[in-house]
Amino acid sequence: MLDYHLHLWPHGQRDTAPTLEQVAAYCARARAAGVHEVALTEHLFRFRQADRLFRGFWDEEPDAALRASMAEYWDEHARADLDAYVECVLAAKDGGLPVVLGLEVDYYRGRMDDVVTLLAGYPFDVLLGSVHWIGTWRFDDIDDPVSMAQWSTRDVDAAWGDYVSAVEELAATSACDVLAHPDLIKAAGHRPVAPEECWDRLVEAALRSGMAAELSSAGWRKPAGEAYPAPELLSRFVSSGVPLTTASDAHRLSDVAHSAAELHRMLDDLGVGSLRAFRARQGFEVAVAAPVLGT
Ligand SMILES: [Zn+2]
Ligand SMILES: [Zn+2]
Repeated sequence: MLDYHLHLWPHGQRDTAPTLEQVAAYCARARAAGVHEVALTEHLFRFRQADRLFRGFWDEEPDAALRASMAEYWDEHARADLDAYVECVLAAKDGGLPVVLGLEVDYYRGRMDDVVTLLAGYPFDVLLGSVHWIGTWRFDDIDDPVSMAQWSTRDVDAAWGDYVSAVEELAATSACDVLAHPDLIKAAGHRPVAPEECWDRLVEAALRSGMAAELSSAGWRKPAGEAYPAPELLSRFVSSGVPLTTASDAHRLSDVAHSAAELHRMLDDLGVGSLRAFRARQGFEVAVAAPVLGT
């Protein structure tokens, strides 16, 4: 098993430098849960380097409350140093810990060339591609009343359609390797009556781009109450031959490898025997249950 989606800092926690001890503790907890390799995948928007590129992307948002909410969220997050993060994870990797260097990259419409240019100078093993907001609406931010109030003013089917369109656009940029939490739009518990068309479009986006899809336990910790992707969407990914990673999306040590055994069971039930691991942005297959040797 892999845990290819890990954060070092909870949302709202500021200005702590990553440490080798923290990465080692993550690896130890993962190993104890049967996870043989982890990827650190901090949000790109937590770093000052992203702040310099994307600050103000919300300026065109016509809704003043959404605009203010995003500005506040951004200010709270865009503070860490990407170079220090990379150095810490590389030191852990060089020291023999079963960790690879990753990043969770948000979709910035029309700006992904800037992301690619920024990240080209770093030795990332794997890049997760994520859609966390539609325009500036953080549809999954269940702690933000402004964001959650939008669900009562928007059409659920339209929101899902807009989300899937953003995922399709992100996948088409080829900037990332793994489609993170593929049906994140359900996080707050809102589902269309007939999600099948959205599921088919997500599978098609993965197939066209060659991206892997992530099976994540994080949805069990949200109002959605089920893994990402939904069982029906996971089944579609598998039958279409889309490679998979497994993940907890932990933002703290206690969630590392969360429900790894349940994810393993879901894979077994579908006859999935291998996952996709990455080195230097190159994917390769590893057995679900087998150790992944470090480089
Ligand atoms: Zn995410
Ligand atoms: Zn995440």
